[in-house]
Amino acid sequence: MKKLITGLHHITALASDAQKNYDFYSGVLGLRMVKKTINFDAPEVYHLYYGNENGSPGTIMTFFPYSGIPRGRKGKGQLTVTSFSATVDSMDYWIKRLDRFHIKHEAPQKRFDDELLIYLEDNDGLGIELVFNKRDTRKGFTYGNIPSEYAIKGFYGITLAVEGYEKTARLLTAQMDHEWITEKGNRFRYSVSGKPGDYVDILCSPDAMQALPGAGTIHHVAFATANDTTQLEARERLLKAGFNPTHVIDREYFHSVYFREPGGILFEIATVPPGFTVDEELVHLGQSLKLPPWEEPHRKSIENKLPTIQLDLHKFID
Ligand code: ZN
Repeated sequence: MKKLITGLHHITALASDAQKNYDFYSGVLGLRMVKKTINFDAPEVYHLYYGNENGSPGTIMTFFPYSGIPRGRKGKGQLTVTSFSATVDSMDYWIKRLDRFHIKHEAPQKRFDDELLIYLEDNDGLGIELVFNKRDTRKGFTYGNIPSEYAIKGFYGITLAVEGYEKTARLLTAQMDHEWITEKGNRFRYSVSGKPGDYVDILCSPDAMQALPGAGTIHHVAFATANDTTQLEARERLLKAGFNPTHVIDREYFHSVYFREPGGILFEIATVPPGFTVDEELVHLGQSLKLPPWEEPHRKSIENKLPTIQLDLHKFID
């Protein structure tokens, strides 16, 4: 069957403080802000996008920072951990760096024999892993605040906590072009490419509490598709299998279809084009507030409601 899904596209989460969010993802982790825009469904809230230098799909982590919202609860029916990839030699560097910025993290652990990882949380408690591995051949990106040999290369993969793994696994393999890669205990790994970057780990979690939305939780995960045609084909496949995808929604930088997977997690299928350079030059990505055309007439009042955010890069240089 033709591959309609090509990997991860972006992951979107809820945060409570735009400046702290910027400081952590760009400052501490060294990701580039590739777009500063608003939540198209709630224009008084930012939508901040972080990624690699080119804003490539598969590196994009996005946030809706709703000022002061309470924390959510981790649990089943949720993407609980977002994993970023770095070289195996960078682990000591990252431990020192996390300690320097007082970022809560656990001791290194091993997974699937060839992965070393550290679990940490951002200031809202969002679950993150740095996975140190030899197989990722992508180049890392940093503003210059992190030596390039230690820089994050993009996503390593994601962890979905669900009641039972079978139905979600079946969706991934039957409708979404994933293959089984490996499994251990209650962790079942799937991937489109078999390479670091698009691993989807399903964590069978029948005893976990039900997840609750709020700061520090993931809102949805988007998978990439090549273009509008493949998106419609993917949507058709989902419909035939009994899922309930939305119509195509224009998100300015990609076109989106949303649906709920059997474990309760919101999935999106997003097109690779037009991409983040549709409304600003590559060199200027993320520097100024971008609004969709229909909000442009309200720019003044939108700008007045949004908090000013700025990265003091100096503080984050190693
Ligand atoms: Zn999305």
